[in-house]
Amino acid sequence: MADVVIVGGGFTGLWTAYWLLERNPNLGVTVLEQDICGGGPSGRNGGFASGWWDELDGLIHLYGTEPAVRAARQIGVSIAGIEEFCSKHGVDAWFRRAGYMYAATGPRHELACEEAAELAAHVGVPDELRRLTREEVQARCASPAFRSGAFMRDGASVQPALLARGLRRVALERAVTIHEGTTVTRLDGGPVAVTERGSVRAKQAVLAINAWATSWPGIGRRVAAWSSYIVLTEPAPEKLAEIHWTGGELITDLRHSVRYFRTTRDGRIAFGGGGGRAAPRIGDSFTQDHEAVRQAAEGFRRFFPSWHEVPIVDAWGGPIDVSPTHLPTFGTLPPGNVHFALGYTGNGVAPSHLAGRVIADLATGADTDLVRLPMVNPRPRLFPPEPLRSLGAAVVRRAVISFDTAEERGERPNAIADAVAHLPRRMGYLLGP
Ligand SMILES: Cc1cc2nc3c(=O)[nH]c(=O)nc-3n(C[C@H](O)[C@H](O)[C@H](O)COP(=O)(O)OP(=O)(O)OC[C@H]3O[C@@H](n4cnc5c(N)ncnc54)[C@H](O)[C@@H]3O)c2cc1C
Repeated sequence: MADVVIVGGGFTGLWTAYWLLERNPNLGVTVLEQDICGGGPSGRNGGFASGWWDELDGLIHLYGTEPAVRAARQIGVSIAGIEEFCSKHGVDAWFRRAGYMYAATGPRHELACEEAAELAAHVGVPDELRRLTREEVQARCASPAFRSGAFMRDGASVQPALLARGLRRVALERAVTIHEGTTVTRLDGGPVAVTERGSVRAKQAVLAINAWATSWPGIGRRVAAWSSYIVLTEPAPEKLAEIHWTGGELITDLRHSVRYFRTTRDGRIAFGGGGGRAAPRIGDSFTQDHEAVRQAAEGFRRFFPSWHEVPIVDAWGGPIDVSPTHLPTFGTLPPGNVHFALGYTGNGVAPSHLAGRVIADLATGADTDLVRLPMVNPRPRLFPPEPLRSLGAAVVRRAVISFDTAEERGERPNAIADAVAHLPRRMGYLLGP
């Protein structure tokens, strides 16, 4: 019997275990992970611990201005919290606070940067996100593809696998029970987490299963699964110096099928996105998609032509849990003893730290500011039932990529791709153009 059983040993599950014990060191906490802790996206992501000041538009639309600003501030607290955790527990996860830069690669993207900076100023946080001229962008990272941009102060990079394994080590030191290689097949009332090798009865349970939730009863329609892929170059610190990218900034373009790229401590570029696909269940297409790797590599070569002689030496992918609002929600399911965090939409490194704090408060019944954040127990937003959800996600994903590519080339998007890419917004989802 445990006090809390956590399904999933990624950042959400491990931060929840950590914060539960920070709240009450006497709690008995068990983590059940089908792979190894951090074997899923938490150990294989881009390592962008980025703020939410660029999400203000969606947050305000959903929750209003004051709650939106409160939520974005808490993500800032979480970025600082990751740094504090690493230094307190001797976890060298390459934490580097260098901010987050948007690099516009098309005229609409420049407008979007302008609007995001205006909105930040309008809600009273002009320093959190500001415009950059073309020259300022090039001074931080020179690329023939980059126009003007924007800079968000809240942004730090981590080596995600080192952070996940560091969290696991600290959890074990605090007497958390961890069973890796253990798949939970269902949660029975009680709750009881049932696995192929036995079951764990607990007072409360936490579902921290990210995109695997697409096939979990009761919550599956809250998310759709899309894949994302990253390529990694050989170390070439002298090449980074040539393009002035020595400040460690996290960078993304403004495509809806976003490209994200960063440097590493040993002088490489890790470059993600641009392709990927949707599927109803997590399978091989999320980790072994050569076409998605090719698209990520193509984006990298286009943005960094001066790196043409530097080989790409690795590539990998994983699933992301896309929510209808592009933002995660945290909360408690009826009858009140199962908690969850879901819908990070490819942006969970900093938010999962916040999820851990929120779920720890929900599970211990603490009445704090965190449980009153707007994304805690909001009205659930759902995708259509299967097979519409995954078919729709697959078709829309293709259309969005085609729309993005045409827009970036300064061409008119094909009429069908244009109509399909706009469909989610027309249906009330905060996704796509
Ligand atoms: C290629 C890629 C790049 C990304 N880049 C970034 C980035 O730069 N910045 C950012 O903020 N986010 C990024 N993300 C998203 C980020 O990785 C996730 O949002 C975050 O890791 C979510 O943490 P989690 O613990 O909820 O999920 P996960 O890390 O997926 O953990 C869930 C765990 O649950 C386990 N599990 C599932 N079902 C069961 C079951 N039935 N029984 C037992 N265990 C189960 C899984 O094996 C998995 O380990 C990226 C994602 C990918 C795939």
